[in-house]
Amino acid sequence: VQEKLLASERLASLGTLAAGVAHEINNPLSYMLSNLQFVDDELSAMTSSGEGLAGERGQEIRDALKEALSGSQRVVDIVRDLKIYSRSSDERRGPVDVQAVIDLCGNMAWSEIRHRARLVKDYGGVPSVHANESRLGQLFLNLLINAAQAIPHGDIQGNEVHVSTRYEEGQVVVAVRDTGEGIPPENLEKLFNAFFTTKPKGVGTGLGLSICHGIITELGGRIAVQSEPGKGTTFQVFLPVGEPPSAAP
Ligand code: ADP
Ligand code: MG
Repeated sequence: VQEKLLASERLASLGTLAAGVAHEINNPLSYMLSNLQFVDDELSAMTSSGEGLAGERGQEIRDALKEALSGSQRVVDIVRDLKIYSRSSDERRGPVDVQAVIDLCGNMAWSEIRHRARLVKDYGGVPSVHANESRLGQLFLNLLINAAQAIPHGDIQGNEVHVSTRYEEGQVVVAVRDTGEGIPPENLEKLFNAFFTTKPKGVGTGLGLSICHGIITELGGRIAVQSEPGKGTTFQVFLPVGEPPSAAP
């Protein structure tokens, strides 16, 4: 069993950056992609009607275009994730019912979970946490989606995504456990790095956990991961109850 506790200092500002970048990139990106697609279609049509771009040089040009298209598609995926996980405009913090937020996230992640596992909740009746509700939602949604995606599609039997809450020494502890593929020890160090992913294009961008880490850091909490390859993984989030001292005037 591998255990890795994360110091709460890295990437705290990634969320802010993410929101701005996603917003600015979206429009130019979509016309870039549609123009590349247009050129690709036109070239294919020209080539098949014998108008040009046959032969070796033609092939090189079409290959370069394919690479440009696939690179742009990758950027589209990243921007999509940045938008999911970026800050909402309402930054206000207040008392948040963590279990209600997890319920909502469970519904949002249901399409990912339903073909893979049972979703089991074990709530310990915890006090509210002083936080921004939508940021907490981004946090738990990502953990639930990761848990689901670690389990192969179509094999519900015996598989679980298990979420529990408990109150411990002034902290609300949320554990998200799955019966998925687990994490090899050499990857534990890299999990929270932006853009670290083991998932194929169109599924993962590697932004989720780095943004989770930022959200938790802002709240003065921490996250720990424990994993056994082939058996499953547990992420535990520790969130202090009450306002952090830095938030007081
Ligand atoms: P993404 O999900 O887009 O790949 P994340 O930052 O959310 O990015 O996760 C980074 C990587 O950490 C994943 O690609 C996967 O390898 C690993 N990971 C995260 N959660 C789990 C989990 N519950 N089980 C197994 N591996 C996980
Ligand atoms: Mg993820």
